[in-house]
Amino acid sequence: MSQVPALSLLQQTDARHHFHPFSDNHELAQIGTRIIDRAEGVYIYDIEGNRILDGMSGLWNVAVGYDRKEIIDAITKQLHQLAYYNTFFKTSHMPAIELSELLAEISPPQFNRVFYTSSGSEANDTIIRMVRTYWATKGAPERQVIIGRWNGYHGSTIGGASLGGMKYMHAQGGLPISGIHHIDQPYWYGEGGDEDPEAFGIRVARQLETAILEIGVDKVAAFIGEPVQGAGGVIIPPKSYWPEIQRICNQYGILLIADEVICGFGRTGNWFGCQTFGFEPDLIAFAKAVSSGYQPIGGVLVSDKVADVLDSIGDDFNHGYTNSAHPAGCAAAIANIRIIQNEKLIERIRDDIGPYLQTRWAELGDHPLVGEARMVGLIGALELSPDKARRAPFAKVGSAGMICRDISFASGLIMRATRDTMLLAPPFIVSHDEVDFIVKTARDVLDRTALELK
Ligand code: PLP
Repeated sequence: MSQVPALSLLQQTDARHHFHPFSDNHELAQIGTRIIDRAEGVYIYDIEGNRILDGMSGLWNVAVGYDRKEIIDAITKQLHQLAYYNTFFKTSHMPAIELSELLAEISPPQFNRVFYTSSGSEANDTIIRMVRTYWATKGAPERQVIIGRWNGYHGSTIGGASLGGMKYMHAQGGLPISGIHHIDQPYWYGEGGDEDPEAFGIRVARQLETAILEIGVDKVAAFIGEPVQGAGGVIIPPKSYWPEIQRICNQYGILLIADEVICGFGRTGNWFGCQTFGFEPDLIAFAKAVSSGYQPIGGVLVSDKVADVLDSIGDDFNHGYTNSAHPAGCAAAIANIRIIQNEKLIERIRDDIGPYLQTRWAELGDHPLVGEARMVGLIGALELSPDKARRAPFAKVGSAGMICRDISFASGLIMRATRDTMLLAPPFIVSHDEVDFIVKTARDVLDRTALELK
């Protein structure tokens, strides 16, 4: 067996040659990366052999857990059969046909067509072009504006980052592009003050109505939102929010887009988050858990209403990616969706492991450092606060979150920090014992974080 180079040498090589996403690359060169070597079930193992429970399912995507033979075999078989062919210029292949039919079967009834991408960002870029082409085809080319939310996340491409409302992303590269407008997010814990959460949900949703009237109904094309904002801090909207958004979209005839890149494929206890929150989108962006990360694949579910118009443009739809419907990506997605179906993982999230984790997670709400513990399905957050009665933020936003995240990692549990909000989204196969480990470890981590903050 060849000798593995020393950790510090690997770190130096990595820092010298690898420009990392969402990382301070200068700092990274000083402290070195964590190098992950292998993974199995819900656990990842670093190069030094430490076992860590992946409470974030990679980047929210490894739904069925690591090292699933069925998916790996399906990919391998597909690569032998047909490693690559494209779906441009009216060609297709078996895995694309099978996956498209399967997606139509599991998605809400208005969806029967799918456009493939390699990522969630590309899915949202595709949506911008689809929405604007939809309105142009209907004779309303001035309907260009897409309304999103501050602190929403829709990806890192120019289009995706523009739709998103991350100001720190807009600050790099001159974003957003024109024709994108943002309204407030339904973040009751952080922005709801003394207002009743349901009244807050309605009020924030009505900002959409105000924006439509200010911009002009004839200029607004669509509204986009994540059913639950993930990267923004697992912001679970009040129940009143999405039905009110739906009402407004219907009233003004604007398209409703669900970015299901995190919520899709079971995370909230239904195939799609829109089903959990009771709304009916016209377009759905998906990626991540469609293949549990075994291959990069994403796409856009296109409702009959939108597809019928796009079918009538009288020209090619001039958009596509070399890897749209990549055969190995489709094979991975089919095998992954079959696992979710055969192992009844969504039913498990709805009736068994979901309620169990939600109950146990809620217990952490009694910790002096925790202002709120929230969870839906298997996606949740802990709001850290120096004064939980007032839901007060820390004076230096983000430092408590970083401390907590690092202690958690060193304690064998991955939680992610957004500002001072700790996020959890474990694989769907997480066991009851593993949930107990998560909650016990999180409590120890909170205790140690509180000590460090003193
Ligand atoms: N949309 C949402 C809601 C996401 O969470 C993400 C990624 O985290 C994206 C879009 C972008 O997906 P990708 O990183 O695959 O481009």
